Amino acid sequence: CSSTTPITATLFPGDGIGPEIAESVKKVFTTAGVPIEWEEHYVGTEIDPRTQSFLTWESLESVRRNKVGLKGPMATPIGKGHRSLNLTLRKELNLYANVRPCYSLPGYKTRYDDVDLITIRENTEGEYSGLEHQVVRGVVESLKIITRQASLRVAEYAFLYAKTHGRERVSAIHKANIMQKTDGLFLKCCREVAEKYPEITYEEVVIDNCCMMLVKNPALFDVLVMPNLYGDIISDLCAGLVGGLGLTPSCNIGEDGVALAEAVHGSAPDIAGKNLANPTALLLSGVMMLRHLKFNEQAEQIHSAIINTIAEGKYRTADLGGSSTTTEFTKAICDHL
Ligand code: NAD
Repeated sequence: CSSTTPITATLFPGDGIGPEIAESVKKVFTTAGVPIEWEEHYVGTEIDPRTQSFLTWESLESVRRNKVGLKGPMATPIGKGHRSLNLTLRKELNLYANVRPCYSLPGYKTRYDDVDLITIRENTEGEYSGLEHQVVRGVVESLKIITRQASLRVAEYAFLYAKTHGRERVSAIHKANIMQKTDGLFLKCCREVAEKYPEITYEEVVIDNCCMMLVKNPALFDVLVMPNLYGDIISDLCAGLVGGLGLTPSCNIGEDGVALAEAVHGSAPDIAGKNLANPTALLLSGVMMLRHLKFNEQAEQIHSAIINTIAEGKYRTADLGGSSTTTEFTKAICDHL
């Protein structure tokens, strides 16, 4: 599409801090003149029998139709016996890869100056298959499912991503020494795909060692691909390297060309409704969505405005050591635009 053709995108404001940071994205996008019309969908209050979750069928249809969307965090009540909203979205929309870039923000000093990592998380199976049951009283089982099809699909995505984004190395993260069958199959698939990309260096790193290497020297890594649970944990670790969860975006990629961007963080119930949340992670997710739509000019404008606002240091939210509210920080970004 050209950069002026209006596009309809689905927006899930989500729970907790979600509506506050979604409001920020809407303001910044409007100020930047992004030609996007939002189709807003909210998490329902009753289970929709068609989806077996609080997400309605109409919400899922909206993403399928628009093929692009932005999602705020959705809370998952622990042990309440209904399907997680995030799992429902990932499974129903076949969002098989979650791309989580993590880079040092110029002007915001942390222990590391040169972080530039891409975590690619398998998003549909592994430990998140949702297959748990009680065997006998006091004994429960959770099934970790790894399939050749899903492993090849995410490995293929990771290598293609590396190639098209000028990246040099793909590291498969695993625990195949212990989970020989499941992680073993995941690695086998990564190796198969690696053979098709001789120009990309391929390596395999055990997850515990990977954590140590990441905190010691994040520059050792480039693109990391891994099963679901490891991706969840490693990407939060990576967020910690550059300033925390308020900063790291992601985009879920589906098989039918669907892209649903979302922040890595959750609904942050401890600060919800207090106008304290950092909207950067969701804003940068919005930037990923714009790049996916080839709205490159607006994506770069918004990206620069965010980076410049943080670098200037006058307006920062509490997680970055500042005292600005979500609305003050958002206004500062709009002023930069
Ligand atoms: P969380 O990411 O919500 O919060 C962890 C910590 O980071 C908290 O101290 C929080 O205040 C802080 N934080 C997170 N985002 C921030 C932001 N934008 N600005 C400033 N501080 C921020 O993790 P949690 O508390 O473990 O999870 C809360 C809920 O979110 C749970 O129900 C969980 O299931 C859900 N969750 C949803 C998603 C998602 O929708 N993709 C992801 C992770 C967790």
